[in-house]
Amino acid sequence: MKSLREKLRKGKLFIISAPSGSGKTTLCQKLILGLSGKRRLVSSISTTTRKIRKGETQGEDYFFISQAQFLKKRRKGEFLEWAKVLGNFYGTPREFVHRQINCGRDVLLSIDVQGARKIKRKVSDAILIFILPPSVEELARRLNGRSTESSKEISRRLKLAKREIARAREYDYVVLNDKISKALVKLKKIIQLERRKKP
Ligand code: ADP
Ligand code: 5GP
Repeated sequence: MKSLREKLRKGKLFIISAPSGSGKTTLCQKLILGLSGKRRLVSSISTTTRKIRKGETQGEDYFFISQAQFLKKRRKGEFLEWAKVLGNFYGTPREFVHRQINCGRDVLLSIDVQGARKIKRKVSDAILIFILPPSVEELARRLNGRSTESSKEISRRLKLAKREIARAREYDYVVLNDKISKALVKLKKIIQLERRKKP
């Protein structure tokens, strides 16, 4: 049975941003798997107009839809925030996030720097975490190693990465993803620390 305090507790919003290829998806998946039961963290699945990549699953990694469908949803106010990143639209589902927060569940949003800034303006106690790659050279190695984008697409992502890294100082925490295990420990500590804070 849940105590009254647990029933009244609103969930917290954790936002993770990182340049593409930094290891954000890898870390978020491990983080979600490593936190279960009462310590569970719920991941929000965004909607995007980007093409599905090799290895991705519809409804698990994203909801992949057409631009016309996205614009319709945006008009209907279905997104808590949305942004255009490298020519594709991405949006966070408003209804899902509100429902989870109201049920007292903490939610993890993996979104870009524009989206993080928009959410922080609306939800001032959202916790912003930036994942930093060890270097731009290592980022290029990871993007090349993932083999999911063309070399033209990789250079666009690297250019954007430099601009995004410059905005890391707007975040509450910056976590270096040098070794996955070390970064994961740091992320878990941040979540524990923030959960202990009084609203
Ligand atoms: P993002 O979601 O930020 O675009 P991914 O999680 O897809 O990045 O990671 C990009 C690539 O880098 C993947 O091939 C992943 O296995 C690899 N990777 C992630 N973290 C590390 C790390 N700490 N060291 C080496 N390779 C990593
Ligand atoms: P990718 O195409 O590599 O999966 O993601 C590209 C960028 O879009 C990443 O920075 C990712 O965090 C961001 N992104 C994913 N979903 C959303 C979303 O719902 N809103 C915003 N603003 N950015 C998102």
